[in-house]
Amino acid sequence: MTQKLYETDSYVQTFTAQVLACTPVQGGFAVVLDRTAFFPEGGGQPCDTGTLGAACVLAVHTDGATITHTTDAPLTVGGTVEGCIDWPARLDAMQQHTGEHILSGTLHRLFGAENVGFHIGTPYVRMDTSIPLSAAQLAQAEAEANAAVRADTPVRCWVPDPETLAHTEYRSKKALDGDVRLVEAGGDCCACCGTHLAHTGEVGLIKIISYAHYKSGMRLAVACGQRAYDAVAGIWADTEAAGRLLSSPVGSLAPALERLQNGETALKARLAALQNTLADAYAAAAEPGQPSVLWVDGADGDGLRRVAMSITAKTGAACCTLAPGGQGLAYALASAPGGDLRETCKALNAAYQGRGGGKPGFCQGSLASGSFEQVKDFLLNTL
Ligand SMILES: [Zn+2]
Repeated sequence: MTQKLYETDSYVQTFTAQVLACTPVQGGFAVVLDRTAFFPEGGGQPCDTGTLGAACVLAVHTDGATITHTTDAPLTVGGTVEGCIDWPARLDAMQQHTGEHILSGTLHRLFGAENVGFHIGTPYVRMDTSIPLSAAQLAQAEAEANAAVRADTPVRCWVPDPETLAHTEYRSKKALDGDVRLVEAGGDCCACCGTHLAHTGEVGLIKIISYAHYKSGMRLAVACGQRAYDAVAGIWADTEAAGRLLSSPVGSLAPALERLQNGETALKARLAALQNTLADAYAAAAEPGQPSVLWVDGADGDGLRRVAMSITAKTGAACCTLAPGGQGLAYALASAPGGDLRETCKALNAAYQGRGGGKPGFCQGSLASGSFEQVKDFLLNTL
């Protein structure tokens, strides 16, 4: 059985140990020590990486009793080796893990929500709850969890005797046999074998980044510690950049965006009206019986359609309207009454790398190559 240094002191970064076994395995060497500070993967927390002597530790696993390190080089059995864990990665895991305890405990205390899933991923921690929660409930839990962080109380990890355990209230994802390691953080008590910070204040900040309904509860993306700071700083920078674009200070972006949206709606209505007027004007100038190909600069897809249809209605002949758009040149093709322009549309697409199609009476699309003059000559020869 490997002595687990991280269970009694999660701040051990370097240690010496005796090499008990070293066997070649796929991807490296399986190394067993008499003691280790390397946390094995488990309970949603990734394993530690680092070095054992000159060898890199790539992965760490446990069967519960023995901890096996996968290294990239062999170690001398019977020899002593110095272990060094990747401390920034471990500290990050401890910040996420301890923050998760505090937030899960708060959600449980306030709303009776159980944590049914936890994974320290990148860039955020995934947390699943057993019941649906509203935005207001999540905001309240986040606020109270951060108050527990600022209270900076000690985090306690211990293994109670069976009788004490029987009289202790604690959260657990599953029924446990034998020794149960309890972790008390910010007023919450939970069975856990992971590594934690010594005081809640070291978590710094807990931020729920996003949430969505998932199965019978919620799936949260959460950042704690340095990750929470990085997320908030990044979101703040992004928000300020948006504020500069909107000429609005951070804090009043929503009304500024609403004004922008209302303005866009009004512009769309004006554009539609102008395109109708344009279609009428083109139709008034069109000569009956003559197929036509026209440049209608500024018209969007709807405008091209309106102009082409109104000209055809006046002339009784096919009409194509073109303007910059789509892949390069946007077109609308309206056929003479009872006509079918689909073959013409296909030929046009084939000639100028176009995409598009439609019904017998009307086709629409865009061309990646060809100038207006080329397309006009092509169509007047075809229509
Ligand atoms: Zn834990």
